[in-house]
Amino acid sequence: MDYDGFFRAELDGLREEGNYRVFADLERACGSFPKAVNRDGEAAREVTIWCSNDYLGMGQHPAVLAAMHDALDTVGAGAGGTRNISGTTHHHVLLERELADLHGKPAALLFSSGYVSNWAALGTLAARIPDCIVLSDALNHASMIEGIRHSRAERQIWRHNDLGHLEELLAAQPTDRPKLIAFESVYSMDGDIAPIAEICDLAERYNAMTYLDEVHAVGLYGPRGGGVAEERGLMDRLTVIEGTLGKAFGVMGGYIAASEELCDFVRSFASGFIFTTALPPAVAAGACASVRHLKESGAERALQRERVRQVRTRLDAIGIPHKCNPSHIIPVMVGDPVKCRYLSDILLRDHGIYIQPINYPTVPKGTERLRITPSPVHSSADIDRLVTALEDLWAQCQLARLPVAAQ
Ligand SMILES: *Cc1c(COP(=O)(O)O)cnc(C)c1O
Repeated sequence: MDYDGFFRAELDGLREEGNYRVFADLERACGSFPKAVNRDGEAAREVTIWCSNDYLGMGQHPAVLAAMHDALDTVGAGAGGTRNISGTTHHHVLLERELADLHGKPAALLFSSGYVSNWAALGTLAARIPDCIVLSDALNHASMIEGIRHSRAERQIWRHNDLGHLEELLAAQPTDRPKLIAFESVYSMDGDIAPIAEICDLAERYNAMTYLDEVHAVGLYGPRGGGVAEERGLMDRLTVIEGTLGKAFGVMGGYIAASEELCDFVRSFASGFIFTTALPPAVAAGACASVRHLKESGAERALQRERVRQVRTRLDAIGIPHKCNPSHIIPVMVGDPVKCRYLSDILLRDHGIYIQPINYPTVPKGTERLRITPSPVHSSADIDRLVTALEDLWAQCQLARLPVAAQ
């Protein structure tokens, strides 16, 4: 077989569909993020990033940087081993305590990333609980889907956020069969939020465990940044809360928070936790500082909300269609992969604005979009430039607009 020929043909297929992924080469400017330098061959230009998951700019927060510098200088670069074999440093222990406290749970367990935490925790729970059935929301993240698949447990998909459908599936199972309901709070691409309380009601009625991915909510919602479950007073009703340290917390890593027994079980049986080098201590220290800071400070959250509101209002004023949702994510709907890519290219080339096009398979075909994530580090001038650029582009490309209410 001509292996490379095969790879080329597959990639050409992606290109023809407009779904070939091109990474922007970025150098984030620490201290002036969302500004970054974008390189393309020999060319280098300053751009403003509008699609980062560093939602609060914590990746450049002085407290986070100081904690990382200090850990690097005092304990060195790497952890030096898996958690079991010499890699559990004091920074890991402190961070797990901090995370358990954040979610009001007895314990927490750290992983290399949010992806790994979902894959390993869901995979282990569903595989090892005898006869477990997993009820998975249709829009769950790839990491949850892969974990569930890997477990080989029976899996049923309920229509996105559809409580009636979830109940139907639960009711069809024997009462004493172990059940695990897996879902997210803020869905990352549409920005809608799950009816968590009602899902907990169903879980209690049908004797199911709940597994909530709060990756796009931790740091951002709730008085201490504990997520939507904290904001709604529901943390104690969830069996497992999963989160990332790589998005609003601005560093890297993933975790689950749950009972002592559940965390100890995953710690003891999950291959993806056991057989990999622990996070660098400086990463754990930086994440810990970030979590601590956002427990105390609501200023970043408040300003983010204000920026989101401003961008939405300005888009509405010029009739640019964006999905209505109660979160911080603004999906500007384009509905065509080639146009979406084109818009993103022109924004970058002519306006110094970087918004990665979101195409299949991240979202269903026909729902391609520009996903905008305003943050407290975007200025009013940044918003002006964004809105002006989008207005120009919409006119230039003759894209559909919504009727604008008389002002
Ligand atoms: C990004 C993401 C993850 C993975 O988290 P990482 O820390 O980036 O690996 C998990 N779940 C959802 C919903 C995500 O969007």
